[in-house]
Amino acid sequence: MSDALLSAEQLHLRDEARLFARTGVSRQLLLDMDAEKLHYPRQYIQNLAAQHLLGLRFPTQSGGRGLDWSYEVLALEEIGVLGASLACLYSLPSIVGEAIHIFGTSEQKEKYLLPMLAGRLTVAEALTEPRGGSDFFGATATVKHEGDVYLLNGQKRFIVGAEGADLFLVYARSNPDVSSHKAISAFLVERGDGVEVQHVYGLMGTRGGGTGRVYFRNVRVPVTNLIGEEHGAYEVFNQMMIPERMTSAAGALGLARAALEISARYANQRKAFGQKIREFEGVSFKIAESLTRLDAARALVHETARIIDAVGNSSYVRRRVSEAKKFATETAWAVVNDAMQVMGGIGYTNVYPIERLLRDARLMTIWTGTNEIMNLVIQHEYYKELLSTSPTARDVEADAQNSEAEGEKVYE
Ligand SMILES: Cc1cc2nc3c(=O)[nH]c(=O)nc-3n(C[C@H](O)[C@H](O)[C@H](O)COP(=O)(O)OP(=O)(O)OC[C@H]3O[C@@H](n4cnc5c(N)ncnc54)[C@H](O)[C@@H]3O)c2cc1C
Repeated sequence: MSDALLSAEQLHLRDEARLFARTGVSRQLLLDMDAEKLHYPRQYIQNLAAQHLLGLRFPTQSGGRGLDWSYEVLALEEIGVLGASLACLYSLPSIVGEAIHIFGTSEQKEKYLLPMLAGRLTVAEALTEPRGGSDFFGATATVKHEGDVYLLNGQKRFIVGAEGADLFLVYARSNPDVSSHKAISAFLVERGDGVEVQHVYGLMGTRGGGTGRVYFRNVRVPVTNLIGEEHGAYEVFNQMMIPERMTSAAGALGLARAALEISARYANQRKAFGQKIREFEGVSFKIAESLTRLDAARALVHETARIIDAVGNSSYVRRRVSEAKKFATETAWAVVNDAMQVMGGIGYTNVYPIERLLRDARLMTIWTGTNEIMNLVIQHEYYKELLSTSPTARDVEADAQNSEAEGEKVYE
């Protein structure tokens, strides 16, 4: 977003997050996470909390700042320059916090949201199962209501924070007898008896965030830890998709911006055939393309943020959020890929961080719902809008030379 369109308060918040990204995270932390010497940077989350940067959208009495999405996307872009792992850990309180903020009881807010935003309680979202992440409603983890607890059994995989998080937001099938949309419940599950974690995955990128597999074996979850209605996780899921996808989208902007700047600076200094490579059209047009794509992605993300702030959740918002996630993450991938091309062989080495950013960017089109799933949502919601409203704009179809030829309009 152009500074000219931001308020003084928004610029201030953006600069706070920018300062944190610049000075609040050591180079060594990034290197250790990428080398998997570190599996979960708890101190990083505590440092963010100390700067009051977690859960910006949540009310001050819950430990947030009472801001809206137009602010949060600014902070997310700044944190995004740190790469996907730290951006994700920054986003998790926003994602899990959304469920507690919207559906939680006052006791849950007191017990979990407040310490989460103060950096004393770290969180993970446990949605994906080995059998699949796209088909959320096919969840096979189960809970059985027994007196004042739910007995939770099952497993989740690819969970960021599996190693390290204190609290998991878990979706599980609570009613085997009805259709999936009415069969799943959401729970806050503390790490404790019956919660076991395996470090299974060697990741291409996005390392050091404690991504692993979580087993739940006869975990006794207090009934007071149910989020929303019993069997009502459909609503929770629909709401949480907003922060899940918006955090991916806005974080992707920062990552792409960082890669673009590094490559543009390089092109301004590197010489070939006796001249700066930025003077070759093949190079400078890549920079121009990347910048244009990035500005378009940022515009989409910021407009979507404002729409969410204006109307809350709706089928239209779900479409726009999915568009923002898809477009911003595909932009990040294209921009980082071109940044590597601009830099030639050195871009492929660890002398520059482009190769790490590229490895990180690759995940973004896969997680928080793959971009194929984004397409599924986008077209589905669009058709709902298109077919449920009568057109108010000009009937352009009737402007064809031979539009009266009804007999030629054969649909079956
Ligand atoms: C490093 C990492 C971190 C992650 N962090 C988390 C986390 O913290 N919490 C969490 O819950 N999950 C997390 N995930 C999981 C991630 O969200 C899923 O991997 C993703 O949603 C896809 O699910 P899947 O891997 O099971 O693939 P599948 O669902 O098996 O999909 C495989 C392919 O089929 C396509 N496909 C599936 N259904 C359709 C359809 N209807 N139409 C078109 N194409 C379709 C998909 O787009 C994809 O290309 C993480 C994943 C990774 C790799």
